[in-house]
Amino acid sequence: MSLPQYEVFALRYGTRDARSSSHFLGGDPHDVPMPMDYFVWVARSPDKTFVIDTGFTQEDATQRKRTFLHCPIDMLSELDLKADAVSDVILTHLHYDHAGNFGKLPNATFHLQDREMEFATGRAMGYRKMAHSFDVDDVVGVVRANFAGRVQFHDGEAELAPGLTVHRLGGHTPGMQCVRVNTARGVVVLASDTSHFYENFMNYRPYVTVVDQAAMLDGYRTLRRLADSLDHIVPGHDPLVMKKYPAMSKATEGLVIRLDGAPKN
Ligand SMILES: [Zn+2]
Repeated sequence: MSLPQYEVFALRYGTRDARSSSHFLGGDPHDVPMPMDYFVWVARSPDKTFVIDTGFTQEDATQRKRTFLHCPIDMLSELDLKADAVSDVILTHLHYDHAGNFGKLPNATFHLQDREMEFATGRAMGYRKMAHSFDVDDVVGVVRANFAGRVQFHDGEAELAPGLTVHRLGGHTPGMQCVRVNTARGVVVLASDTSHFYENFMNYRPYVTVVDQAAMLDGYRTLRRLADSLDHIVPGHDPLVMKKYPAMSKATEGLVIRLDGAPKN
């Protein structure tokens, strides 16, 4: 039986200016402008829709000086997806820019790696350097969702539906997972923060926020193994993604793009 093919969308909900030296472990001698985009993703087959990450909130944006373009949950309406109809959300990890906006998805089950929950509720959060990228209210929100029976935990690789699997790669956080999804152009891997930029996995240059450098480097190799080609890997924060892939429609230019068609070169 052939696998279902998913439509895959990236929704760009935020952005910020930055320099390349702030992104790479050990800095960057070129130190050029290197902005960062913020996305959530949607994978949709005829049978099943997955929302992948839930983005940050306006309050987070103000606090952390990010540019908030749109509420990522409101943006789902561009795909005719109602927030209360979302049944499955994959949280690639629990950093503030991936796991906010809980209350806006009242009927969702959240798919999360065991190790991410352990990390985000464990001793590491006593260290400012580790806790910095988490928002305690998001973490408490996941604890509450778990008490309500709304968290489905995974330990490593798991098939969530035919044609869609998650894979724990660690590195950035211990429970960091990517999403592998079958599409009309082959198997696409949504890297999320297993590779923030193309530059990370293309040239094995670790991102600056890292708990396990060796795992992060291994992750770049695993991304290559999981995807049908380098062009099938979609990094989690790279503005180049917006240039490479076509907008879903004229009206969504700069906001919603399709990843299940071939990228422009
Ligand atoms: Zn992150």
